[in-house]
Parts: sequence; structure tokens; C-alpha cells
Amino acid sequence: MATIAVLGGGYAGLRTVKRLMHDKVDAHIVLVNNHPYHYESTQLHEVAAGTKTSADITFDIREAVDHRVDVVIDTVVSIDRENKRVILEHGEPLAYDYLVNALGFESETFGVKGVKEHSLSFTDIDSAVAVHEHIERTLANYATSHDENDLHIVVCGAGFTGIELLGELVHQVPRWTKQYGLPEGGMRIICVEAGKKILPMLPEDLSTWAVDFLTKHGVEMHPGTAITEVKPGVVIGGDLEFHANTVIWTTGVRGSHVINDSGYDQKRNRVVVGEDLAVEGHPGEFLIGDVSAVPDASSGRLYPTTAQIAIAQADAAAANVAALIDGRPTQPFVFKSVGTVCSLGPHEGVASIDMLGHWKLKGHKVSLVKKLVNDRSVLELAHVKEMLASN
Ligand SMILES: Cc1cc2nc3c(=O)[nH]c(=O)nc-3n(C[C@H](O)[C@H](O)[C@H](O)COP(=O)(O)OP(=O)(O)OC[C@H]3O[C@@H](n4cnc5c(N)ncnc54)[C@H](O)[C@@H]3O)c2cc1C
Repeated sequence: MATIAVLGGGYAGLRTVKRLMHDKVDAHIVLVNNHPYHYESTQLHEVAAGTKTSADITFDIREAVDHRVDVVIDTVVSIDRENKRVILEHGEPLAYDYLVNALGFESETFGVKGVKEHSLSFTDIDSAVAVHEHIERTLANYATSHDENDLHIVVCGAGFTGIELLGELVHQVPRWTKQYGLPEGGMRIICVEAGKKILPMLPEDLSTWAVDFLTKHGVEMHPGTAITEVKPGVVIGGDLEFHANTVIWTTGVRGSHVINDSGYDQKRNRVVVGEDLAVEGHPGEFLIGDVSAVPDASSGRLYPTTAQIAIAQADAAAANVAALIDGRPTQPFVFKSVGTVCSLGPHEGVASIDMLGHWKLKGHKVSLVKKLVNDRSVLELAHVKEMLASN
């Protein structure tokens, strides 16, 4: 019986396994993940700000798959593609016939000096919890330090992650002010972004609404300010210096370093795959989610890295692995976006939805849409029990 190795238990990997199980594919399925749990990456900013706990956005992978799947909790070091073996940190090498590589994303520094040393980023549960603990510790420290930089938070980047994080941070300010006895209006939340336009993927009126919302809630927005260096407690952008004892880096992502370590032809650890999502010249070796780069046939541009696309790719990759096992031809990946939702804290947001027409939403109702999206994802990847637990 053929072995299918699925690497990564995020949106892409776990969905692939669920799909293979659902379609009763006749193969030995092995899922490798570095934690026993799946986490909802799309909600990491909520853990970083302290709106949610790690338990709210995680569930046990073993409970989400059945006995036909071998779950291996280990870290993938590299892939010996020539000999079709996955090299693991602790266990024996894992031999495979078919590979679905879904190892996800890491933070991208774009080579800016001092980012790794002097800023925080969140790309998984541990790093999101670390950001939250750092914020609470630094604010608590103000009582003895009286250092106003303890009250300042700089968010570097105003992409989706940065904007969603800012929304959660402004939501927390009243609680922090009360809990730590901070001077009223003493906290400063500053956002520094190289691009002139914030949230360019949304219609102009929605991005303007989002920026107005954050500004009204006290965020100091600095678009058009390219960060050149981060020093201890200082973010430097051109002639400007932003002083803060909490600096959070959210400017973008790259794929897992395992891609580079495994000799793929890659850019920022993302591999351009063929239309069926397999690596050119390597049928049976699929890359999906944030480690893949898929050109949109209509525009020629690469699709952005999103959970929505990762999930759609997983369905396509699972069907194509099944086709290869059955000796059928693989099918091209086709994607139709259902839109974009950007939360601004737990109760507000903006959304551009393409379902049953085109909808532009802002304000309270978006939080309901976001909740439905999150619940649907948990429901599809796990079970109702986890969905209810996350509410
Ligand atoms: C704050 C935030 C908000 C977002 N909001 C949205 C949104 O609203 N909508 C949307 O569509 N997208 C959103 N995204 C993007 C989305 O989260 C990613 O595109 C998506 O997570 C990619 O899925 P993936 O399965 O490729 O990778 P991941 O979700 O990163 O999963 C990778 C998995 O592999 C595991 N892993 C990593 N390295 C190893 C290793 N070496 N060995 C073993 N296991 C390993 C990880 O633990 C993880 O389980 C958001 C991202 C962030 C950070």
C-alpha cells in the first residue's frame, strides 16, 4: 500500500488529511506536525493581544482524525527528495510514495537590521503567547519604572496581520489602564508602514473606514514610512524615531525554512508549483498553503497566502493524490475567492464578500461574519465539540 506523507497540521495539511479520509483513499496516511494540536493561525493576533487564550484557538489533532491516520508529533528537518524520505528531528526518516508539503509560514524581516534581535513576532502559539506576556509584563513594570516607553507599543506593518492586531490592542487599552493603574491616555499605540495605502486589497471606502476607526481609537498611523532599522526600544523610519519597549513586527511572511533546507528552487521559501499543485518534474510531490506560490491563470500574479486558499488547495491536492494512486490524470487547481474579512477587535471590522452578489460590510455585523468564518473552519477541520469550546 502506498504511503502519503502530509507535512504540517495547519489549515492546508489537516484539511488534506480530512479530505483523504472522507474520500476513503486506499493508502497509508501519515500526518507529521511539530505539536499535538492544530492552531487557528488566523486568530493568533487575538492571543498576542490577550483577547483569547491559546486554548481558545487550538484543538487536539488526534481527535480530529480517525484511526486510519498515523499522527507523528515531530519536527521536519528537511526532505530527502531524491530518496523520498522526510528527515525528522527525533524519529527515524519517514519513507513516502506521495508527499503533501504544507509546512506553513514564518515571519519575514526583509533584511531590516535589528528586527530579529529587537522586535517580537507571532507565527505560532508559543510566539503569540510570548507577545502577550511581554505586553502585560511591560505595562506592569511601569508602576516601578515610570518609563513612558513601557506604555508605548509600536506595530511594524499595516498589512492584514498588523491591522487586525491593532484592532485587538485598542480593545484592550481600557482594561490595561484600569488593571495596571496607568495614567489615562498614557498608552500610545503607533503603527509604522512603508506603503502609502493601508489595506490596498479592500475597496477604498472600506480601507478608509478601517483607518478612521483605528485613528479614532487612538492609534497613530504612519503610512509611507519605510523602517530602516530596529534598535533596542527604537524603531527607525527615515528621519523619524518611534520609542517603545514593545515592538511587534508584522510586515509579512515567508514559507518554512525547511523549503530552502530541502533544496527546492524557491523564493522566500515559496515554490512555484504546476497547475495541479505538484512540483514541476516531480509528480506526486505537492506543495500547498503558504509554502506554495500559485499563479492566478487570469492575472498571471501569484495568489496571496491565505487560509482560504490553503484550504482550497488542500482539496485539490488530496483529489490529485487520489487520482495518481488510481492511475487517473490530475486536475488543475481552480480558485474563486469568497472575499476578505478584516477584524478590528472583537466587535468591529470591514469585509468585502463575493457570495450571492458583492457585499461591502463595515462595523458590528462584520464580527458576526468573522465568527462564522472561524467557526466554519473549526467545524470543517475538527468537530462541533471544539467549535463550541472556542466560543
Ligand atoms: C494574525 C493572522 C491573521 C490572519 N487572518 C487571515 C484571515 O482572516 N483569512 C485568511 O484566509 N488568512 C488569514 N491569515 C493567513 C493564514 O493564517 C495563512 O495563510 C494560513 O495559516 C496558511 O495555512 P498553512 O496550512 O499553509 O500553514 P500554517 O497554518 O502555518 O500551518 C503550518 C503547520 O505546520 C506546522 N509546522 C511548521 N513547521 C514544521 C516543522 N518543521 N515540522 C513539523 N511541523 C511544522 C505548524 O505547527 C502548523 O501546524 C492570517 C494570518 C495571521 C498570522
